[in-house]
Amino acid sequence: MHKATLTSKGQITIPKEVREFLDVSAGDTLDFNFVFSFKENDIPKVEIKKADDRIKCPVCDGKGMFKKYGLRCFVCDYSGRFNREQWLAPLFLAGRRYGVDISMINEGNNLVPTLKLRSKIYTEELLIQVQDQLQMILIEDHAPRSISDPSKYMIPSDYELNNLLELLHSEEAKSVVKGWFRGDRTI
Ligand SMILES: [Zn+2]
Repeated sequence: MHKATLTSKGQITIPKEVREFLDVSAGDTLDFNFVFSFKENDIPKVEIKKADDRIKCPVCDGKGMFKKYGLRCFVCDYSGRFNREQWLAPLFLAGRRYGVDISMINEGNNLVPTLKLRSKIYTEELLIQVQDQLQMILIEDHAPRSISDPSKYMIPSDYELNNLLELLHSEEAKSVVKGWFRGDRTI
């Protein structure tokens, strides 16, 4: 049994052994769930666990597979889950195991790095779709924010916007990204 004392601000220090057991460290989010009991005299309990910060994989729509092609999704490593905050390093590692060559380069004076995928296993058609999805995430993360209102993107010049749109293949992706820079989108 481990104990911690609550401060007047409602804070506790989670004992080291408990942090290790939960596999949590600074910056992690914890989930608190009420444990309901219908027995009389039971003291209220709350279950604490590490929160799963990962979202549904945007590339395979959480399926872990590219069903049409019968291939596993290398972006989420067949898990269907995607860590929006930390996806690049795991992607490079997974790419190696799945036979996908991933490169990221800063081309010319583009605002956003260019992601390139090559593979002998995954078809060109599929790679282009995946590339567009990931490139959109890179654009979201790298496009400069407005100085006066950081919740909006800086409005790019036509030249800059064209460069950004050229990173994408599908018309659908291009029109979505174009919408982001109309200045009305809150990030
Ligand atoms: Zn996936």
